[in-house]
Amino acid sequence: MGVKRCKLLSLPVLAVILLMCFVYYATVFVFLEEWLGVNSSLGTTNAIIFSFSAFMCFVSFLAAVVTDPGGVPSSFGPELESPQSKVSRFLLCSSSVEYCDKCCSYKPPRTHHCRVCKRCVLKMDHHCTWIGNCVGYANYKCFIDCVLYGSIASIYSMVSLQYREAAKAMWLAQKCGQNYRHPFNLGIYSNLKLV
Ligand SMILES: [Zn+2]
Ligand SMILES: [Zn+2]
Repeated sequence: MGVKRCKLLSLPVLAVILLMCFVYYATVFVFLEEWLGVNSSLGTTNAIIFSFSAFMCFVSFLAAVVTDPGGVPSSFGPELESPQSKVSRFLLCSSSVEYCDKCCSYKPPRTHHCRVCKRCVLKMDHHCTWIGNCVGYANYKCFIDCVLYGSIASIYSMVSLQYREAAKAMWLAQKCGQNYRHPFNLGIYSNLKLV
């Protein structure tokens, strides 16, 4: 529990959480508010969709931070024959076994030694500084979910920002007596075709 709390309090993790809060506030209470008005039905619908993506991204991020990516059980060795747990079954599927000189223990294929965590991690993908953790067997799904929902929320935020800037330009042009055509106000179908 102490280690998990320590991970949550690390500088990169706190920086990501602060950035998420900033993007959420700016998107909902600045961009969406000025574009559609959060209290209007369309504004509320957009805010709910964005909030769902942002919430899922935040939860997946926290899960990726605190979940143990999966270490090699101390009992693991080439003689493993009767798997009981999920991890043991995964290990048995491995065709060959390697040896880690740093941990002085056997490790299944696709298990790599992380220099930052100072241990072997099952199905290790990489060590991510932003989650302060390795991405491996047990937290791979959380990490992918975080990237996926984060991408959806970012695109949503970007579109809101673009629309707000274009609306601002239109207002300014009208004030100066010029003609300005909103580049994204083409109707739902045409906008989707553009994407
Ligand atoms: Zn190792
Ligand atoms: Zn690591």
